[in-house]
Amino acid sequence: MGNKTLAIIKPDAVGNGYTGAIIDKIIKAGFKIKAMKMTHLTKSSAEGFYAVHTERPFFGELVEFMISTPCIPIALEKENAVEDYRKLIGATDPANAAEGTIRKLFAKDIQFNAVHGSDSDENALKEIAHFFSTDELLNNYSE
Ligand code: ADP
Ligand code: MG
Repeated sequence: MGNKTLAIIKPDAVGNGYTGAIIDKIIKAGFKIKAMKMTHLTKSSAEGFYAVHTERPFFGELVEFMISTPCIPIALEKENAVEDYRKLIGATDPANAAEGTIRKLFAKDIQFNAVHGSDSDENALKEIAHFFSTDELLNNYSE
């Protein structure tokens, strides 16, 4: 079981002013922020990130959405991170997301759905590396 996952606060949620509320829920759920940045994705970065969806009918729209305005990738750490974070965000379509989940609270529809979450430990590591170099990750901090 891995302990890392990659979250993104997507352009819709950043633009709607939900960044603080979403980060608060993530931290209260027990995740530690290892790295975070606000960035305006290039087309090639967004296409690379979502390469697994290239053949899906919504791929073009998804890329346009992700490059529309800035987003906030966040590398997170917690035991069982991938599964626990996906539980916290809820189903892809907010209409099917459980009460209290981030997508239920902050997403508009299946496309403009507020946040990303990795779907496996293997992809979590790849996705974190897509946005952050090793020296950007918080390590061994002590007071
Ligand atoms: P998830 O983000 O829950 O892992 P997917 O990996 O299936 O969902 O899809 C990636 C993203 O593509 C979704 O979060 C959403 O923004 C967008 N998306 C998924 N399905 C659709 C759809 N049917 N129409 C438009 N956009 C979609
Ligand atoms: Mg996915």
